[in-house]
Amino acid sequence: MFNRIKEEIIKKLMVIAGENNVLACQEEIGVYTYDEYVNQLPGCAPEVVVRPGSTEEVSAILKLAAENKIPVTPRGGGTGLAGGCVPVYGGIVLSLQRMNRFVELDRHNQMAVVEAGLTLGEFIQDLEREGFYFPPHPGDEGAMFGGMIATNAGGSRAVKYGVIRNYIRGLEVVLADGQVIRPGGKLIKNSTGYNLLNLFIGSEGTLGIITQAIVQVMSRPTFLRTMVIPFNSIEQAIDNVPLIFEKGIVPMALEFVGLDVINLTERYLNLNWPSHQGEVHLMVIVDSPSEDDLSRMTDQIADVVLENGAIDVFVADTKTKQDEVLKIRSEIYEAIKKETIDILDICVPRSEIPGHMRKVQEVAQKYGLWLPAFGHAGDGNIHTHLMKAKYKNGQMIPINYEEIKDKVEAARQELFRDAANRGGVISGEHGIGLYKKNYLPLSLEAGQIELMKKIKQALDPQGILNPGKIF
Ligand SMILES: Cc1cc2nc3c(=O)[nH]c(=O)nc-3n(C[C@H](O)[C@H](O)[C@H](O)COP(=O)(O)OP(=O)(O)OC[C@H]3O[C@@H](n4cnc5c(N)ncnc54)[C@H](O)[C@@H]3O)c2cc1C
Repeated sequence: MFNRIKEEIIKKLMVIAGENNVLACQEEIGVYTYDEYVNQLPGCAPEVVVRPGSTEEVSAILKLAAENKIPVTPRGGGTGLAGGCVPVYGGIVLSLQRMNRFVELDRHNQMAVVEAGLTLGEFIQDLEREGFYFPPHPGDEGAMFGGMIATNAGGSRAVKYGVIRNYIRGLEVVLADGQVIRPGGKLIKNSTGYNLLNLFIGSEGTLGIITQAIVQVMSRPTFLRTMVIPFNSIEQAIDNVPLIFEKGIVPMALEFVGLDVINLTERYLNLNWPSHQGEVHLMVIVDSPSEDDLSRMTDQIADVVLENGAIDVFVADTKTKQDEVLKIRSEIYEAIKKETIDILDICVPRSEIPGHMRKVQEVAQKYGLWLPAFGHAGDGNIHTHLMKAKYKNGQMIPINYEEIKDKVEAARQELFRDAANRGGVISGEHGIGLYKKNYLPLSLEAGQIELMKKIKQALDPQGILNPGKIF
């Protein structure tokens, strides 16, 4: 299907990117064989890792790859949760890590120009120094712009501020034959032809290599307040979500989280969550340029939830307390990762969250599995974890995966089907990548999948860009 990389190709790659930026020995390429997805596929290794320093170099590498029918898998920060940057067919892993410049901050247009290898963490720091703000915040700040755009990353602030797609105004993309195109620009409006910009956002490295992006930024919101609200059941917690919106309040984040994973994460981090009451907690973050407005919102939310089953309301009003709550919420995955088989990323309409959560509980009971679920109650994105452990007396007790393998697979499929029946999708923010591709037909009509394959064929007729992903 594809050709192996011969010595003469390696020499040509060295001429393009420099000798030090072409890695071929086993010790050096090891870290480019996996991402943050918990179950790694053995035997997926690149033949060569190339770290280009410019768009011209990326273009030359793709021309060479196209001429020789060599697969190219782009890689950003490797924080993906779907195996998207794992090279299934060997070939070249194209690491964008050296293309990490913050090229321009255009204050007048409130837009930044960044290279694909700039990490979210570096971008946030640089922006804050300049008094600007970038709302999307996928949990791992090691993610790079190329990866965030290629997965259309989300995060907990999507409920108010949207996802990465809403902030990308222009792109520079290198196509499979080495041609460079620049869809979009520093524009708020654009109705000129098909929207190629949006075609590349969320394309998971299968249609082109993103080398640069024009990113919308905002003035920094001045005040934040974080609330933790315990409830006795998931139903009660989720039933309060629409009531908050009905008050005309759009929180910056509205998350639900079970006490089981809170307890485990507190212990993992040696930090304290403000409450241990009930079973399920809502974490609500509100932001506003006015402190009075912030107090009005937190008071209104407290009134609503206390009338509707909340056990108590805790408000973290200092930065230290807010950071502690956020840290615990952000590190849940790390705390339970060791015993996690898969982190699902289902997204359903917000009104369907209670129904889907009932299904999660039903499936857990049916198969005797511990399926801790937490997620973005405000936007319908639910991270149910398929675990190879039981939760008992505040402890995570490992169980042999081989014994529950079939049950886990049945549970996964039942939950994916339930999402589809509710008008949802199997991925809200992580992408399909390698590990969800077999389930795509559960989420999309055959006609849509066929159309996507035709687009892939048109842009990458030899199929060299990130082969083995999505379909
Ligand atoms: C603890 C933790 C928390 C997380 N929380 C969230 C969250 O809240 N929301 C969320 O959305 N995600 C979350 N993620 C997942 C992950 O951070 C995102 O998917 C992120 O967007 C991946 O970026 P990356 O640079 O690491 O991409 P990679 O993992 O390197 O790659 C991801 C995909 O993008 C492609 N790609 C990479 N660079 C380019 C490029 N330049 N051009 C074309 N294609 C490219 C790759 O081929 C691959 O298909 C979390 C991950 C972790 C570990």
